[in-house]
Amino acid sequence: MTLQQLLTEGKEYLRQCEITDFELDACLLLFHVFGIDRGAYFLRQQEIVSQEKEEKYRTLLAKRGKHIPLQHITGYTEFMGLDFHVNEHVLIPRQDTETIVEEVLRSCEEKRVLDMCTGSGCIAVSIAKLGKPHSVTAVDVSDKALQVAIENAKINHVPVDFIKSDLFEKCMGKFDIIVSNPPYIETKELEMLMPEVRDYEPRLALDGKADGLYFYRRIIEKAPDFLLDKGSIFFEIGYNQREDVSLLLEKQGFSQIECKKDLAGLDRMVSAVWKKGI
Ligand code: GLN
Repeated sequence: MTLQQLLTEGKEYLRQCEITDFELDACLLLFHVFGIDRGAYFLRQQEIVSQEKEEKYRTLLAKRGKHIPLQHITGYTEFMGLDFHVNEHVLIPRQDTETIVEEVLRSCEEKRVLDMCTGSGCIAVSIAKLGKPHSVTAVDVSDKALQVAIENAKINHVPVDFIKSDLFEKCMGKFDIIVSNPPYIETKELEMLMPEVRDYEPRLALDGKADGLYFYRRIIEKAPDFLLDKGSIFFEIGYNQREDVSLLLEKQGFSQIECKKDLAGLDRMVSAVWKKGI
């Protein structure tokens, strides 16, 4: 069987399993198994493949056919042009989250940055790698998530201080910037998510409790104790949470509340500034 024939089989299999991006996913799994990229595929598509690789590919296709996320199968994803290790203990970094990272990168030079609910570490590591912050601290409540985040800091060769803590419980010191993409999906919405997310991504990273705002409330309540004067807070939000999160920030005494949209034109980030004595 040639590489091209194997790919055709893979596409057909994933189409039958009703995988949305069946063509792309069949390609990416093939590239993963053969350690090739698109260019190498076109040069080698008529090559006969070994029995062993053929079987390996079919094993991975069967997993994807069960709606296991592609990134869990390959173990990697790309975010901000960087490589990140992922597994079932962390949320897979989303392209939408690049919106908040790009915004923080504009103002993080020489700043002390705290990433609350770091998960895979994608936000903290990207800021440490692509910006010039004074320091980056990253917090998560899950040991297993922190293991992944620590590995991601290593893979990308950046220094990040990791703290296992239930939100600010074990945090110390003051920061110029707090950034967070907390769990923000309403509990009742979880069952409506696509199977890849609903069945395979960690509930802990998704569930924002009854109204989806639980973590914003808890973070906003304590953030002033951990922010320097004129420090900023940046939140990723769900498309319908701009008003609610802005109101929580306003009530707590934050000013300069702003919203940014993602590439799809949906509200995706709210930021605000903390000023003492106002
Ligand atoms: N901060 C991580 C991310 O952006 C994890 C988010 C989460 O677990 N809710 O992917």
